[in-house]
Parts: sequence; structure tokens; C-alpha cells
Amino acid sequence: MFSTPSKPRSLHDFSFAELETQLVSDGLSATHAHTLWRSLHGHADALQTMPANFLGPLRRWMEKHLYSAQAEYFLDVPEIVTETRSSDGMTRKYLLRLRDGNTIETVLMGYEGRFTVCVSTQVGCAMGCVFCATGQMGFTRHLRSGEILGQVLHVQRVLRQDFDKSLRNIVLMGMGEPLHNYDAVMKALTVIADVRGPSLSWQRITISTVGLVPAIRRMADEGCPYSLALSLHGATDEQRRALIPVGRKWPMDELIEACRYYNRKLGKCIFIEWTLIAGTNDSPEIAHQLAKLLEGMDVHINLIPLNPTAGYAGSASAHTAGLEFQRILRAAGYPVTFRQRRGIDVAAGCGQLKAQAS
Ligand code: SAH
Ligand code: SF4
Repeated sequence: MFSTPSKPRSLHDFSFAELETQLVSDGLSATHAHTLWRSLHGHADALQTMPANFLGPLRRWMEKHLYSAQAEYFLDVPEIVTETRSSDGMTRKYLLRLRDGNTIETVLMGYEGRFTVCVSTQVGCAMGCVFCATGQMGFTRHLRSGEILGQVLHVQRVLRQDFDKSLRNIVLMGMGEPLHNYDAVMKALTVIADVRGPSLSWQRITISTVGLVPAIRRMADEGCPYSLALSLHGATDEQRRALIPVGRKWPMDELIEACRYYNRKLGKCIFIEWTLIAGTNDSPEIAHQLAKLLEGMDVHINLIPLNPTAGYAGSASAHTAGLEFQRILRAAGYPVTFRQRRGIDVAAGCGQLKAQAS
């Protein structure tokens, strides 16, 4: 009888428990699983060739299952298509090619010696926000957890090599809607926060969502430890739907109720993201509406001046309008900060990320 060869699988898609089970069922010991796991998450390209410390059965397993022509496994080491550095030297945007030829963008940002990576979770995005370059390109596919993790391993290697620094924060604010790809995202984050892996503190990981109500409730029910940012951009259904088509699916009252539920259940603050667009959502009247909408909630408001994209004619609010917007919200008792603009000259700012033809 012939067995059909199964599709090769990424070793970076495994959780530790899955890897251990696999190796043990192949006759290896749990110790081998620990050795392989450490190498998988140490250097991004550490397993491109056989590590010298792999001996005996693990060496033979690797030769058969990873390095042979019939290998069932592969590694998620994205190929760097381009690296673009911003003029301030603090932002690097990577266009990375995945195994199937699709490309994604990952942005490394340095703030006073602390580094944050902005990670993509999908190729494109299905949510279609009018002001966002990723939304303008449409949806191609979800990323696997190994492809999400691969971006973090990539920037960790860059930081080690070029800056002698380690990564501090991760924001899921690159291409795609993280909660539309819930399982792969959560699996990748578990590995990223694993002390035996990249070991990033879960307190320094932020998931940004356009507002998928059932997924916000699921995060609350599952006790999800990461920070949550909600891209709101409008204070009424009408304002929001003009910018965010998916707002039609979950009305504002359901969205706010889900956020209140998250606040209550987890006792955690939500970061409200507000892209300021001149003449669209930056008036004093809207600031007052927003203050009313969020009444009693545990939130921190981040104001982001609109970054230009080819498919949207709107422009960033005037500085004075932004300051007045901030003043009104502060007077109502909310913490409000302006997001530092980074990498605009290399189109690596919020909402400017899109894949290029491969
Ligand atoms: N899909 C998720 C995460 C990726 S977008 C989300 O929408 O939250 C990351 C942030 O960039 C979001 O807050 C989004 O609203 C914002 N953004 C999108 N396009 C932008 C633009 N052109 N200028 C400024 N911010 C933008
Ligand atoms: Fe998707 Fe976020 Fe862009 Fe909206 S803002 S299209 S949800 S990536």
C-alpha cells in the first residue's frame, strides 16, 4: 500500500507540547525536544545547517525529517526582499518573502534604545478600512503561527547583530486583523512569551483590533494576558462605518459592551486608537461624543495623525485641532497621548504597510 505524503509542516508551527509528543513518538526523548526547541527559537537561521551540539538520535532525526529530500518539515525563515531604513535611523522596514512567494512587512522601531516590532498577521486584510493601505489591497490569506513567530525571530537576529540589544515590545499592528486569525495569533504569542523560547514578557505584547466583537469576548473569557488596543476612529455608528466597513457587522453598542465586559472580566485597560483625519473625526463635537461613549470605562486613548496612503484622499488633522481634541478628552478625565510618528518617509507608519508584487 502506498501512503500519500502529507504536506510538509513548519517546525515553527509546533507548540512545545506538540514537538515533544512528536519526538517521543519517533523514539526520541523529552530532552531532545528541549534541545530542538531552544535552537528553533534562538537564532532565526540557527537550524539552516545541523547544529554542532546535536548528537546521536536527534542528529539522525534532523537528517531524515528536516534535511533530506523527502523531509516532512521545514523552517519559517523568511527571505529578506528589501530592508528600508528611515532617515532618522530608528526605523527599519522589512519586506519579507514567505515560502509560497507572498510578501509581508515587518517594522522594527527604536525608541531611546528600546526596540518594538510591529508584526503582520495576514497577507492583506479583509476589513477594508478606507484609510489603510493594507485594507486597500484586500485579503490574500492568514499567516500561520510559524510565519508570525518568524518575523519576531528575524528582528531579534537583526537586533543582536546590529545593535547588541534585545527586543522589548511587540505590537500586532502590521498587516492584517489579528483577531480574524485568532488561533494562529494566540499560538504564536504563546511561543513568543515562552521562557524557553524568545521569552518576551506578555505584558509587553499588544494586540490591535478593528473590533471583532466575539473575539474580544473570547479574549476576556479565556483570560488572555496580552494588552488590547481597539481601533475606534468614530464615536457613532455613522462616523465609524464611513471609515470601517466591518463596523456594519457589529454596531457600536455591541462593541462598547464587549469592551466593558473585557474591562470587568480581566480588570485590564483597553488602548483606544484614534486616527485623526482633518474634517472627518477631529472636531470638538466628536471629542465630546467620544468622551460620553467611553464613560466609566478603563481606557487609554492614543491619537495617531493620519498617515498618507495612495487610496485615500483624507489628510492628517492640523496640529491645533489634534491638541484641542486631546484637551477635551483630558478634561473629561481620560489619559490621552499622541502616538509618535515613525518611519513615515519609508511608508512604515501605521496603515502604510502593503505587500509588493513578488
Ligand atoms: N487590523 C488591526 C491592526 C493593524 S492596523 C487594527 O486595525 O487595529 C494598526 C493601526 O493603524 C490601527 O489602529 C489602524 O486603525 C491604524 N491605521 C490604519 N491606517 C492608518 C493610516 N493611514 N494612518 C494612521 N493610522 C492608520
Ligand atoms: Fe485591516 Fe487594521 Fe487596516 Fe482596517 S486598519 S484594513 S483592520 S489592517
